[in-house]
Amino acid sequence: SLSERFQEAFKKLRGKGKLNEEDVREALKEIRRALLEADVNFTVAKDFIKRVQEKAVGEEVFGSLNASQTVIKIVRDELTELLGGTQSRLTVSSKPPTVLMLAGLQGAGKTTTAAKLAKHLKQKGKSPLLVAADVYRPAAITQLEVLGNELNIPVYKEENCQDPVGIVSRAVPYATAHLCDTVIIDTAGRLHINEVLMDELIHIKETVHPHEILLVVDAMTGQDAVTAASAFDAALGIDGLIMTKLDGDARGGAALSIKAVTGKPIKFIGVSEKTDGLEEFHPHRYASRILDLGDVETIIEKAQAAFDEESLAKMKKTMRSGAYTLENFLQQLQSLRKMGSMSSLLGLMPGIGKYKKELDKVDLDGKEFKQPEAIILSMTTAERTSPNPKLLIKDSRKRRIAKGSGTRVQDVNRLLKQFTEIQKMMKQAKKMQGNKKRHSFLP
Ligand code: GDP
Ligand code: MG
Repeated sequence: SLSERFQEAFKKLRGKGKLNEEDVREALKEIRRALLEADVNFTVAKDFIKRVQEKAVGEEVFGSLNASQTVIKIVRDELTELLGGTQSRLTVSSKPPTVLMLAGLQGAGKTTTAAKLAKHLKQKGKSPLLVAADVYRPAAITQLEVLGNELNIPVYKEENCQDPVGIVSRAVPYATAHLCDTVIIDTAGRLHINEVLMDELIHIKETVHPHEILLVVDAMTGQDAVTAASAFDAALGIDGLIMTKLDGDARGGAALSIKAVTGKPIKFIGVSEKTDGLEEFHPHRYASRILDLGDVETIIEKAQAAFDEESLAKMKKTMRSGAYTLENFLQQLQSLRKMGSMSSLLGLMPGIGKYKKELDKVDLDGKEFKQPEAIILSMTTAERTSPNPKLLIKDSRKRRIAKGSGTRVQDVNRLLKQFTEIQKMMKQAKKMQGNKKRHSFLP
């Protein structure tokens, strides 16, 4: 991958104390090759290397002790610039609803992204409305409806209506009437850019005047994504990009070239098929990720989103009362799962990128995490909220719970044992907190 290639290029520098011009030139040559192999636009790669070289000379890295760190820092700064510099946020209209229109070729990920974006905005306290304006394939409307239902987000659709412009123009007043502050329009795509597609999109644009037109592009298509973006921008005018499928074996070159070529910023990236697989795009963080320097900010944000204030408050209350129950255990398991797959999370930590393949095997949706959840969910409320569930759950109940959760009695036993251990740890933690308070002179 691109990240591995960068590591290789830097490895040679890291081993050395002082650098000479030749070392740096060698490393940059390798980086240039890596960029081209990752399908970065040729001119973009050439200019990039030139800028890094000039800066390295300017900073007089040669012969200094921290030369390799300085070169890495220069590369990161230049990558950040290449990716757009600072984060580019969504426009929010002062007069709701804010209308966001998604456009793009067929299969780019518009419908999935519409749902992901709605979920993202809902988590931020917005009330989104999804609009099904891809009327040519009935399956497209159903796809959006299923996602909307799953996320508990309303979907505006009109059965048997073949007029996307009409649908969209009626959807906006519908949003106002139903107190939705953000309208997300899922439009139709085509396999190739053609006049019919552009005319339809332009017609929608001129009818509802969206606050943002976001072009959804597939990272896996490499330079084709960049070409498509230029064409859409020329014909329709776009405000920003959402690049999907950056989780796959994508070479990532499109992400690096698209801002430089089109002048339009990436606002979000898609990192999985699931509805939580959308991230705000932060150029600096992404550059750090490519260089495997870690992206701690994103980890913290994900944790914060998973442990929302309500469940945090609940957890604190539990800790204070000392009554840790299976119900609390269940909540924690569910919060952990909300944070997303282990690999996507740990992959953001410095130096871990190269283990990503291994980490992909640890799946929070997998058996290890699903099983305890299923077992607890098969218990009665009394069992779940008891401070001592072992007393309540006799052999006959164990058999029933195992049956209800599709597990075996030994799995139920194992879970109860695990729970008792965690409960013990919780009690100890509480005791230590208590001691600290007693002996402390501070308020
Ligand atoms: P549309 O034709 O533009 O509406 O594309 P869809 O939303 O139907 O997506 C096409 C396919 O790409 C579906 O199988 C999606 O699950 C998949 N997809 C979309 N975004 C992502 C992403 O970020 N990562 C991955 N791995 N798959 C994605
Ligand atoms: Mg679609």
